[in-house]
Amino acid sequence: MSDPTRLERATELMRSAYGRVALPEGDSTWTLFLRVLFGVGGDHRSSDALTEILKSSPIASPQMTMQTAAGSLVEVLAPVPRGPQKASLVRTVAAWWIEQFGEELSPAWSRGATFYRESLRAIRGLGPATVDELLLFAARLKVFPVDRPTLRIAVRHGWLSLPIEDEDAQSFFVRGLAQAEIGGAAIDPREFSRLLAQVGASHCGREPNCDGCPLQSMLPPGGPLSPESC
Ligand code: SF4
Repeated sequence: MSDPTRLERATELMRSAYGRVALPEGDSTWTLFLRVLFGVGGDHRSSDALTEILKSSPIASPQMTMQTAAGSLVEVLAPVPRGPQKASLVRTVAAWWIEQFGEELSPAWSRGATFYRESLRAIRGLGPATVDELLLFAARLKVFPVDRPTLRIAVRHGWLSLPIEDEDAQSFFVRGLAQAEIGGAAIDPREFSRLLAQVGASHCGREPNCDGCPLQSMLPPGGPLSPESC
């Protein structure tokens, strides 16, 4: 089975199990960036709290964020789960944003995925998968977040083998999804990422719980590969 065919089949199975997933939305790329930074996508408490805060608060723009004292930012973010802990990161990201884009809230990201990946990965507190999540969901660049659940699923199904180079993982998902389609329509990598997150949360944790998993019919003949090593 080719990589695009695998991804098409997996998408169909996950859509049948979970339906179409909601994707994070925002008035601007900056807003989307913050939503992704706070893990909004699966956490409705974060989403609701952040929506209220973004309406008229100091984090409505990177400039306002930078002009707000660190202590005030902690208070502003208090209603968001883990918000106060991320106040310092939000300020750092706001400074990065201003350096890259000035006051533009929905910039063109003209320097490309590789540049922004490296630049964001240099920020303490942003791991590689989070950076790719930000670049995919907010900037709509051609990257794919390979977080722990995604890695587990890909390895256990033999889509990728350990040890995995970043380049290989990106190639499998980015190029594979670019070539995949269902009923003539392209598969949105954001949807695919969110669907994998649901499989990870419901079935594919440290120990795979394959019974009833949407992807069970795609397992290799002997069951999950390397189930203990991811
Ligand atoms: S739980 Fe089993 S079937 Fe489901 S994704 Fe993980 S390895 Fe595959």
